[in-house]
Amino acid sequence: MKVAIVGAGVAGLSIGWRLRQSGAEVTVLDRAQPARAATWASAGMISVAGEMEDEVSDEATFAKRSSGLWPDFAKDIEAASGRKIAYRTDGALLVARTDAAWDRFRNRVDGVPLDPAAARLKDPMLAPDIKGALWSPDDAQVDNRALGDALAVAFVKAGGELVPNEAVARLENWDGRMSSIVTPFRHIEADAYVLAAGAWTGAFDSLPREASPPVRPVKGEMIAVAPPGGSGLPQHVIRDDRVYLVPRHDRLLIGATVSEAGFDTSVTDAAAADLSARAISLLPGLSDWNVVERWSGLRPGSPDSLPILGESAVQNLFIASGQYRNGILFAPAIAEHLSRLILKQTAEISAFSPRRFD
Ligand SMILES: Cc1cc2nc3c(=O)[nH]c(=O)nc-3n(C[C@H](O)[C@H](O)[C@H](O)COP(=O)(O)OP(=O)(O)OC[C@H]3O[C@@H](n4cnc5c(N)ncnc54)[C@H](O)[C@@H]3O)c2cc1C
Repeated sequence: MKVAIVGAGVAGLSIGWRLRQSGAEVTVLDRAQPARAATWASAGMISVAGEMEDEVSDEATFAKRSSGLWPDFAKDIEAASGRKIAYRTDGALLVARTDAAWDRFRNRVDGVPLDPAAARLKDPMLAPDIKGALWSPDDAQVDNRALGDALAVAFVKAGGELVPNEAVARLENWDGRMSSIVTPFRHIEADAYVLAAGAWTGAFDSLPREASPPVRPVKGEMIAVAPPGGSGLPQHVIRDDRVYLVPRHDRLLIGATVSEAGFDTSVTDAAAADLSARAISLLPGLSDWNVVERWSGLRPGSPDSLPILGESAVQNLFIASGQYRNGILFAPAIAEHLSRLILKQTAEISAFSPRRFD
């Protein structure tokens, strides 16, 4: 079987890698360098508790499945690529800043509620006015930039064809079926096609309206700070409902803004100031840490904020998008689900069907 994939982010690369491991002939095209869009801009949190709370839904089930796949996925990527991706299962501390948030935490079944004194034992830097916290031992994180590079290496070492700097201009379809993808240099014909172009997934005019996924870009800005000489980093992710702090190597990542700004990826002073203020309100000691990097990225958003995974209204065109804030968390489950769907080894999850918007 021959598969052509548009987009070499975490989604396209991990689906391509799994398909290649199953014996398919796979080409992944990217208009730029692999894994330099949202996958690069992400914070790399693998956080079911922080993102899903303890809700019961198809998305939460999918998130838990994916989180459970992550340890082996990480091991496989490192073994196949020879690269480290710094997958860490250090847990996360979710901090309540209001009485209402603390009430919610005390009733949750997916973590350990900690009163302010107990929370401060975990993180002595916490602000004095916190109401309590929820310790979530199952939350993990990965160095998402290293992950993107390692996935690209693993895919190529497995025999996949990775084509950077070649934009897909058109998705040709005929009589309700995909027939080829067109770049400035060639037509590529395949047995199945995957559109995994992140925030740009909805931007292919050549598709009929009913097959064009309603994906929109949702901008996020982040900053990274480094401690002044001698200070240590927190040992795990810390977050409240306005900001998250992710220790990554020798820096602390602070994220993220959420704004609807089209495809604008500018980095603004206002966002940096806002993120700093929110972080300092949670850990006041950060006020004398230095900002060492600022960046932004575009999350692939969907109208109901659920992922869009499965075959589109055009036969043989599969969509892998709409992961919004959770594309790193979802990566192993998306790779597993989409590769099995394409190989006709599983059924679609109807809540995520690309055809639900018809
Ligand atoms: C600031 C921020 C923080 C985040 N934090 C987290 C987090 O902590 N945990 C988490 O799970 N998720 C997080 N996310 C979300 C996560 O990063 C995304 O959901 C995920 O990276 C999407 O992956 P993707 O492969 O679908 O898209 P992308 O990584 O954006 O890749 C899409 C690729 O498609 C390519 N492309 C586009 N158009 C074309 C074309 N015409 N032809 C060829 N190639 C094309 C692009 O160049 C790009 O490389 C965050 C996102 C942002 C922005």
